[in-house]
Amino acid sequence: MRWPFSREPAAPTEGPGAQHLQALLSSDPDRIYRAACAIAQLRDPAELDALAPWVERIGRATAHIALRGALFANDHHLQFALRRLRFWRDRAGCLCALYPHYPFFDPRREAARGHVVIDAVGEAEGGWGEAHSVTCVDCAAHWLATDREYHYPWWEWALTLPTVDGTPSHA
Ligand SMILES: [Zn+2]
Repeated sequence: MRWPFSREPAAPTEGPGAQHLQALLSSDPDRIYRAACAIAQLRDPAELDALAPWVERIGRATAHIALRGALFANDHHLQFALRRLRFWRDRAGCLCALYPHYPFFDPRREAARGHVVIDAVGEAEGGWGEAHSVTCVDCAAHWLATDREYHYPWWEWALTLPTVDGTPSHA
């Protein structure tokens, strides 16, 4: 069926991702902020599938909403949430590729959630915190995730080589 006028379809109010979608379209800065933080770390494929087609609409609906945030601007959470949804929509690759683009991916939590395996832990360069050699469970990419601190804890992610190389066999 075609609408007689060009208008945007109504956003679903139930089903996967609907709560987040309603929050993002609500114009309520607190609800937008909380939904953006959740989507920034969202892994559920059903929710990502449901939310991804709405990403441009969400971008328009939130473009003029003032999101505050003292140390880390709340708008950064939103911008990263939108980036994650576009990445998912475009099937741009393994979600681990987004680790370097958002500072709140704690490698310990990623490991606890089963997204990475921690292969080794050492001292971070500079003497504060730890550096974690991890492997992505989904694509086997190797990352070095380093504890950082600047007013709040954050994590720096960089692609790296495996820490433990198998001994080459000389046949
Ligand atoms: Zn990966």
